[in-house]
Amino acid sequence: MFCSLVTAPSPTVPAAVREAAADVYGRPLQSLRISVIDRCDLRCAYCMPEEDYAWLPKADILTFDEILVLVDAFAANGVRRIRLTGGEPLLRARLPDLIAGLDERGLDDIALTTNATQLARHARALREAGLRRVTVSLDSLKPARFETLTRRAAIDDVIAGIEASAEAGFESLKINTVVMRDFNDDEIVDLVAFGRSVGAEVRFIEYMDVGGATLWQPERVYSREEILERLQGHYGPASAEGGRGNAPAESFRLPSGERFGIISSTTSPFCGSCDRSRLTADGLWYLCLYARDGIDLREPLRRGIPAEELSQRIAEGWSRRRDRGAEERVRAPVRGALYQIDELRQDPHREMHTRGG
Ligand code: SAM
Ligand code: SF4
Ligand code: SF4
Repeated sequence: MFCSLVTAPSPTVPAAVREAAADVYGRPLQSLRISVIDRCDLRCAYCMPEEDYAWLPKADILTFDEILVLVDAFAANGVRRIRLTGGEPLLRARLPDLIAGLDERGLDDIALTTNATQLARHARALREAGLRRVTVSLDSLKPARFETLTRRAAIDDVIAGIEASAEAGFESLKINTVVMRDFNDDEIVDLVAFGRSVGAEVRFIEYMDVGGATLWQPERVYSREEILERLQGHYGPASAEGGRGNAPAESFRLPSGERFGIISSTTSPFCGSCDRSRLTADGLWYLCLYARDGIDLREPLRRGIPAEELSQRIAEGWSRRRDRGAEERVRAPVRGALYQIDELRQDPHREMHTRGG
C-alpha cells in the first residue's frame, strides 16, 4: 500500500539537489532508466528466446505516483535524464500520465525506448505529454526476417510507429539495431538509408551477453570495427563526431552528411564514464546492467520512510558503486551466456527485459 509519509507526486520544482552523488570512481549519478513493465509483446531472439518466462507479481509493480516519488529522490542526487523502457513500455496503460508527471519536474531529458508495435496510436499523446526523444528498436527491414527474430509479424506496425513519431515532432528520433553475424549484418547499409528516409539516426549495437541472452555466442557478435568497415565500404569514410561523453554510443558522420552511432558494449565497453542506473518496474535499483543484485527501494517507499531518507539511501548506494560489468565480461577467460535459463527463472530481475535495456 502506498503511504503518504513519502509525499509529492507532483512538485513543480525539482527537489533540492544535494551535491550530485559520485560513485567510487567519481562517476556522477545523472541518468536513470525506468522499466515501467516487465512484459513484452515480442520475443526477440537476443533478449527473450525462451518459451516461458516468470513475471513480476502485479502487486509489486510501482504505481506512477510511486515512480514519481522515487524520481524526486533520484533528482535530489543529481539525476537529470530519464529514459522509460521495459519490457515494452507502451504496454503500460496511460503512459502519457507518467510522462506528464515527469515533465513537471523540469528534467533535462525524458526519452523512451520502444519496439514501436503500439507507437503509431500513441506517438502524438506521448509528445503532447512532454516526451522529448524516442528510440525505436528495429533489427531488420525484411518482414520474414523480422518475424523470425521477434516471433511476430509486426513490422508494418513498427514502421507505422516510426513514421508517426517523425510526424509528432520529437526532438530526436533514433533507431536501435542489434547486429548479429549471419543474421542481419547484411542490412546495416540499408538501415542507414531507411533512417535517412524517416529522419532517424541509426545506432548499431553489438550483440551483448546480458542476462536473458541465453543464445549468446561470441561468434555471433558483429563488432564495431566490422560495422564501420561495412558502412565505409559502401558510403565512404566516416568521421568520428566528438567524444562519447557519458553517452553509450559513439557518433559518426558519413560523407553524405548522415550520422550514425555504434554502441560497442561487447568489444570495447565504456564503463569508465557510465552515469546510468536502472529501476525495475517493481522498484529494485540496479547500479549496472550486469549487476547480480539490486537495492530494494520499493520496501522503504511503501513503508513510508521520509523523502529525505529515501534520497539518502540512493546517495549511499551510489557512493559504494564499483560496477564495471561490461569491462569484466571482456576480461572473462571464457565468454558465454551470462545466465542459463534456470538461473533466470530463479530471479527474473536478471533478465534484460525486466531490468530495462
Ligand atoms: N522493448 C523495448 C525495445 O525493444 O525497444 C525496450 C526494452 S529492450 C530490453 C531495450 C533495448 O535493449 C532494445 O534496443 C534492445 O535491442 C536491447 N537489447 C536487448 N537484448 C540485447 C542484447 N542481447 N544485446 C544488445 N542489445 C539488446
Ligand atoms: Fe525485444 Fe524489447 Fe521485447 Fe526484449 S523487451 S523482446 S528487445 S521488444
Ligand atoms: Fe555502465 Fe555497467 Fe554498462 Fe559498464 S556494464 S556501461 S558500468 S551499466
